[in-house]
Amino acid sequence: MADRLSVEERRHALEAVADEIKGCTLCPLHTSRTHAVPGAGRVDAEIMFIGEGPGYHEDQQGLPFVGASGQYLNELLHMIGLKREDVYITNVVKCRPPNNRDPLPNELDTCIPTYLQRQVEIIQPKLIATLGRFSMALFFPRGGITFFFFFFFFFFFFFFYPLFHPAAVLRNPNLRPMMEEDFRRMLVLAQEMASADASQPDDEPPPPPRQLSLF
Ligand code: URA
Repeated sequence: MADRLSVEERRHALEAVADEIKGCTLCPLHTSRTHAVPGAGRVDAEIMFIGEGPGYHEDQQGLPFVGASGQYLNELLHMIGLKREDVYITNVVKCRPPNNRDPLPNELDTCIPTYLQRQVEIIQPKLIATLGRFSMALFFPRGGITFFFFFFFFFFFFFFYPLFHPAAVLRNPNLRPMMEEDFRRMLVLAQEMASADASQPDDEPPPPPRQLSLF
C-alpha cells in the first residue's frame, strides 16, 4: 500500500503536475489550446471524477467542467449533498481537442501516463468516477494504459465507477433518472470505502474491495 501523503504534500505535488501540464508540448493538442486544464478540487478527495477532455469554456478558463456539462455536474453533486470543492475533477486529456473531436490514441497514450496517473497516485481517491466513453475506455485493452490502471487498482484499492457523460444526459433527458440513481449509489459506495479504510489499523492493508455489480 502506498504511503499516505499529507494534505500539504499532495497540494505541492499536484501543483507541480499542474505546472508541467500548463507548459506541456508533448502532443499536438498544445498548438490549438488557449489554456491547458489540469484539474481542480480537493487534493485529498475520496471521489475523483475523470471526464474526457476540456471543451470550449474549459479551454477559455483553464478549469474543468465549467460549461453546461459542468452546471449539470454541480446539480448532481448538490443532489447528493456534495460540492465541487469536496471532490477532485479532471479529464483524460488536459488540452481541448479541436472542435471537441475525440482524443486520438497518441494523445491518450501521452497524457494518461504522464499526468493522469500521477494525479491519481497523489490524490489516492477511494473511488474514480469516469464520465463518458473516453474515460470509461481506461478499462479496456489499450496496451499500457489498461495495465497501468489495473496496477493502480490493486495498489491503491480504489473502485472505478463508470457514469454517463453529463453532456449525453443533457442531450437525452431519459437518462436523467439513471444518472441520478448512479450518483446516489456512488456516494454510498464511497462512504462504505471510507469507513472500511478508517476501521483498518494503520499497518494493515484494507480488505480487497468488492467490485461493483456493473462489472
Ligand atoms: N466535458 C469533459 O469531458 N470535460 C470537461 O472538462 C468539460 C466537458
